[in-house]
Amino acid sequence: MSRKPSDVADFRLEVRSFLEPFAELDGFFGQGQRWPAVKAFFRAMGARGWLSLGWPEAAGGLALGPEYEFALWDEVAYARAARNPLAAGVVARTLLRHGTPEQRDRWLPPIRLGEVHFALGYSEPEAGSDLASVRCRADRRGDVYVIEGEKCWQSYAQDMDVLWLLCRTGTLESRSRGLSLLMVPLDAPGVRVTALPTLDGDRLSAIELRGVEVPEEHRVGPENAAWGIMGEALADERHIQFPPGRVRRDLDEVVAWLRRRGLTADPGLRRRLADLAVRVQEVEIHAARVLEAICRGTPAVSAAAANKVVHTLVCQEIAAVALEFGGPAAVSNGSRMDQLWRQALWETIGGGTSEVMRSVVAREELGLAGRR
Ligand SMILES: Cc1cc2nc3c(=O)[nH]c(=O)nc-3n(C[C@H](O)[C@H](O)[C@H](O)COP(=O)(O)OP(=O)(O)OC[C@H]3O[C@@H](n4cnc5c(N)ncnc54)[C@H](O)[C@@H]3O)c2cc1C
Repeated sequence: MSRKPSDVADFRLEVRSFLEPFAELDGFFGQGQRWPAVKAFFRAMGARGWLSLGWPEAAGGLALGPEYEFALWDEVAYARAARNPLAAGVVARTLLRHGTPEQRDRWLPPIRLGEVHFALGYSEPEAGSDLASVRCRADRRGDVYVIEGEKCWQSYAQDMDVLWLLCRTGTLESRSRGLSLLMVPLDAPGVRVTALPTLDGDRLSAIELRGVEVPEEHRVGPENAAWGIMGEALADERHIQFPPGRVRRDLDEVVAWLRRRGLTADPGLRRRLADLAVRVQEVEIHAARVLEAICRGTPAVSAAAANKVVHTLVCQEIAAVALEFGGPAAVSNGSRMDQLWRQALWETIGGGTSEVMRSVVAREELGLAGRR
């Protein structure tokens, strides 16, 4: 039975003790390879009410502030247990705001319990950073939508139940004003999911949709209104998207690994590791800025973009030190240090590339307009 924690510090302690049996799960990096175990972990979180910490009580949530969710996913990231599931964040919050009562009744209870999982169907072969150019079409015929198109790079879609599909219901020229959101069961006839291996051995997916039919009740929000809805859902999630616990854990793991090999007496390495410890504190400060903006109810767009850039840069700097000083054992394929490096490389792309994030910072923090 879920109950409200007394304060954030106590809650962190409670989360740490909950995480102890999951110390070997390693689902933060390898969800695609160990989905049954990660799913069981989400169910255990759901049973405690931790997938719905911030939802209103009327929807079965604990109505806690964003600082609790931040603490939860920061600890889960440090433990390497899992990444926050999209269903409980992006999907549930959107349904709470824009869903019909029937949609909320149908989807929120299984999402809260960690029983139904969603893949985010935004990117396509010709649309990633520029989602206003999405081409995957959904045409209304009577009371169903018929979907035709392709998506790619969806995280773990092969294991998920439903696709949160961004699709074109208006003309291509209408750009962001002609997009809608549909919930598409991934076992519907006409859906084909193919695994795409990532550099570190994890799995993303490519999805083909050929004549797939979904009822009109699976559309979330009004037709052609997806853009604003997506922006709100993204804003809600920003404080938990790139938790600093992941970076802290990277440094702790690298230091422990180098120490086990007797390498940490090297003054050059000690200086680099000390610099990295300072960089990790920078990451924590950036994450705290995002949380603070969200708690104050002010826009967190540029703080979140800066956080993502620093977070991914520092992950790469930490992994690079392991490779540089660790010798052949660090670069051998399949070693933990090699995995950290490969994973840190692709971290700069998912959730918006570093170039796009820098453009946001240039525009929002420095007032620099882009080239027309
Ligand atoms: C690990 C991972 C997980 C992902 N998960 C999902 C998911 O679950 N669902 C989903 O839909 N997608 C997912 N993606 C896709 C991801 O969102 C896109 O790859 C990303 O938005 C970039 O789009 P793109 O690959 O089409 O590259 P493009 O947008 O074509 O960009 C190519 C290059 O051009 C640069 N560029 C593009 N536009 C600009 C600009 N305006 N200014 C400066 N530089 C620019 C980019 O930075 C990049 O270097 C994932 C990707 C990764 C790597």
